[in-house]
Amino acid sequence: MVVKSLNHLPIPTSANISPRSVSTRRYVAGVVFGIFFSLQLGRYAFDLGKNLDITVEDVTSWTHNVDAAQFCPQVTALYPQSSLNAETWTEFGELLETEKFKTLAIERLSGLIQIPSESYDNMPPPGQDPRWETMGQVHDYLAVAFPLIHSTFSLAKVNTYGLLYEWTGSDASLKPYLLAAHQDVVPVNPDTLDTWIHPPYSGFYDAETGLIWGRGASDDKASLAGIMLTLETLIGKGWTPKRTVVLAFGFDEESSGIHGAKTLGKALEEIYGRDGLAFIVDEGGGFKDVYGTIFATPGVAEKGHADIKVEVTSPGGHSSIPPAHTTIGYLASIISELEQNPFPVELARGTVPHDTLLCYAAHGHDISPRLKHSIFKSTHCDAALRRVEDLYVSKDHWYSSLVGTTQAVDMIYGGVKANALPESAYAIVNHRINTVSSVNETAAHDTQTVSGIARSFNLTLKAFGQDIIPASAYSSSGPKGHIELSQAFNHELEPAPRTPTSGTGSEPWDFLSGTIKATYAAHRNLRGIDGSNIIVSPGMSTGNTDTKYYWNLTRHIFRYNHKNGAYGGEIATGVHTVNENIPLDHYLEMIRFFSTLILNADEVKSFE
Ligand SMILES: [Zn+2]
Repeated sequence: MVVKSLNHLPIPTSANISPRSVSTRRYVAGVVFGIFFSLQLGRYAFDLGKNLDITVEDVTSWTHNVDAAQFCPQVTALYPQSSLNAETWTEFGELLETEKFKTLAIERLSGLIQIPSESYDNMPPPGQDPRWETMGQVHDYLAVAFPLIHSTFSLAKVNTYGLLYEWTGSDASLKPYLLAAHQDVVPVNPDTLDTWIHPPYSGFYDAETGLIWGRGASDDKASLAGIMLTLETLIGKGWTPKRTVVLAFGFDEESSGIHGAKTLGKALEEIYGRDGLAFIVDEGGGFKDVYGTIFATPGVAEKGHADIKVEVTSPGGHSSIPPAHTTIGYLASIISELEQNPFPVELARGTVPHDTLLCYAAHGHDISPRLKHSIFKSTHCDAALRRVEDLYVSKDHWYSSLVGTTQAVDMIYGGVKANALPESAYAIVNHRINTVSSVNETAAHDTQTVSGIARSFNLTLKAFGQDIIPASAYSSSGPKGHIELSQAFNHELEPAPRTPTSGTGSEPWDFLSGTIKATYAAHRNLRGIDGSNIIVSPGMSTGNTDTKYYWNLTRHIFRYNHKNGAYGGEIATGVHTVNENIPLDHYLEMIRFFSTLILNADEVKSFE
């Protein structure tokens, strides 16, 4: 078996022994120990190899013999099959090439960008803050821009601004599916206005560069406009679905989704029930060039989240007779201690970051033989797993942030007057919890770290409702103050359940993979159905989407919208900062993806 044979591969170190001399020495070793110690032979050959210097070419030839594809199996491209759907899909593809459709697509997205539908942190519910009213403008715009959808779909408004559309399919035995996007955008910082090449709410299309400009162009209005325009076009062609199509558009994704997706999630569960949907596609990963190969990485997991408040209190007084440390001083020491004790970054088997690396190793054209070999071997060898951490994870800050639980002290508060000792000071530590950890484990790590500091300063400690160091611990002198750790904002979140990507229950993943391959090939007029020109790998992002409120609806959540980051580009430009834009061609490819997805979803029977 292939994996087993990898056990016996020595580790490459440098290039001074040829493959021929390796085999010769193995042969000599066999003669010496041969006949009477046949059981020892294999072990000897292995040990011998381990002590030899092996060339890069050796590793290449060994790894070449490995059936790399088994580490990252691929499906073929999936195209609509029935004559009606195939014809509709072909016509849709031809339409995408026309100037008329391109103009329409630009207009629809541009109009949406021109509405400054900003969402801010800690906003009160809709109705209690006029800043929400831009969402009403989005609704009005959608009703005018997509009239066929509004005469065909049912529409419910959830918590005033959440949009929940349904196009009821003709076959009630087929599970509905959900396409999600969000109406809101990250606010534009007024101080940055003069650094925008085109104003953020202009929706300007630059025909020379082919870019559509503005806040939300990429995150997430191209998805929203793309979904709507695809469906509007299909209705216009007279196409009707067998499988029910559901759309859910939140309105505060950029500020945690507590008013939008949270209430939409509840409404969806009431309507469709637990596990009532076949799959969900929301914003997320796209595709790009890695190691000379194009990889699409739909998000199939999400990290957890916790904002931990660290508060120090101690008696106040006049600052002319201060103690050695004020609450602010204690807090500074705590923050310093936390930063000196980060969470370990340990790559774990079975996690998405490890699976992504397996796909890079199995299909990346230019990956170094050493890294490739180590990644394959890491499927069963702990030393190899640690080596992959050294060779790859620790060298890539984004990747190490993805793998480990992160911490960032993002807020601090303390003191009211220059001559008064601050009775309290606090900081908020933001954590993104790794997928094999938990909120409790994160809280325990911080408690452990802070408790040492508490003892060294004679401070009591209460953590998450529990007395960790009571006042009685300092019976002789009494405590000098108190530390309390708690969950801030009550929005902590466990890591998301993982979407199945292999074995039983992975049919929706295979369906999505085939759809991505078909879209990619069709958009470039590539022939064939083997789909090898784009590899689909399990992926993950460092943040969360609205789908964190949709876990009960299906196990099959994909954070993906076919964004093009290939050929040296980023998957999205200017997201959450200045000069957000999207190339027209990328946006058109997203529309092609949605058309392929919708037509394919109507034919696949294996979701139920
Ligand atoms: Zn977004």
